Amino acid sequence: MPGWMPLYYDAPIEIVGGKGNRVVDAGGRGYLDFFAGILTNMIGYDVPEVREAVERQLATGVVHTSTMYLLRGQVELAEKIARLSGIENAKVFFTNSGTEANETALLLAAHARRSGEVFALRQSYHGRSFGAIAVTANRAWKNNALSPLTVRFLHGTDRHLPQFRGMSDAAYLDACVADLRHQLATVVAGDVAALIAEPVQGVGGFTMPPAGLLRAYREVLAEEGVLFISDEVQTGWGRTGAAFFGIHADGVTPDMMTFAKGLGNGFAVGGVVARGDLMDGPRAIGLSTFGGNPIAMAAANATLDYVLDHDLQARAAVTGEILLAGLREARPRLPMVGDVRGRGLMLAIELVHPATGAPAPETAARFMEETRRLGLLVGKGGLAGNVVRMAPPLTLTEDEAREGLGIILTALETMGEEAG
Ligand code: PLP
Repeated sequence: MPGWMPLYYDAPIEIVGGKGNRVVDAGGRGYLDFFAGILTNMIGYDVPEVREAVERQLATGVVHTSTMYLLRGQVELAEKIARLSGIENAKVFFTNSGTEANETALLLAAHARRSGEVFALRQSYHGRSFGAIAVTANRAWKNNALSPLTVRFLHGTDRHLPQFRGMSDAAYLDACVADLRHQLATVVAGDVAALIAEPVQGVGGFTMPPAGLLRAYREVLAEEGVLFISDEVQTGWGRTGAAFFGIHADGVTPDMMTFAKGLGNGFAVGGVVARGDLMDGPRAIGLSTFGGNPIAMAAANATLDYVLDHDLQARAAVTGEILLAGLREARPRLPMVGDVRGRGLMLAIELVHPATGAPAPETAARFMEETRRLGLLVGKGGLAGNVVRMAPPLTLTEDEAREGLGIILTALETMGEEAG
């Protein structure tokens, strides 16, 4: 295994099967899945509706005819997403990943505004292509890639910085907006194409700007004609419980949204939904060989229908609240827990050194081993790698939420006793 591969766990887990909200490894051990393959599994494993839709598509013999021909599955999915987006005259372009979706959105914005200048948020992660990595704000994730864009990173989730510590939400919000206005007036060279932002930052550790900040940014930027791209790769499809797309909870209808991850319940599918006039502009994005392929469309249509038919957004709000309330209640007894936060089924535990409050990535690694031993899979993230992320399939039941919570608390208590 190459040294750079970021495999979880001291001894890597090989997942070979799954049923409901649980997976099984090559050794036959079962785990309750609280990370869902980085949020790619949205409605559980081995779902008959998805399996049958994919099998039906395969049985037609139409494995792929490319986007030069009409594909019914694409039209159906695009119509659903356009309707759910709330964007006026929305059009959809399908890709194979979140990275490609963001690259496409940045291309659209740069073309529409004739500018390669963009804003993004600190602590963001948007993917691995040149454009997407340019708007990603963490040195480690950037891998020293050179940027084809001029990117300025805005405040929004960096309240740990000394100048912001202890500030109220309202004061921090005002400071962020004043900084944006200052940059627009004095720093940028010409027109800015877009702001790209995750409503809840995923890889950044499920951090979120204070309520109202993204709306305030939107209002200031709209005055200047700057486009707003909401990266919904992690927050789409009801995951946050609060809204079907994460940004809707902030009362913002963006110009574009990018999506991927959970839409195909594991099948590779992503895309952009954008204002029609933006989508109709450039010819450069007119084709993707694999984007929108019939099998991915079958999986995605079945998955999205399942989410809507079972009102999984409402369920995510309920199970998320069971987890968040349980963690908040236990927190005072757990000095290594610096913060618990989340929205819907995007929940985070920040692990710190009890004496100093400094990030403790080694405690997060230890926690992952302990929860693995107890039969639960979770994820990691945050700038310092000290944030444990929990994002189970939206089909998680209330009993499974309590079961997972029990394992998490047992692991934290055991580690606390060991630490003395
Ligand atoms: N945007 C966000 C918010 C993400 O979390 C990710 C992946 O983790 C991406 C974009 C990139 O998506 P992909 O890995 O499918 O290219």
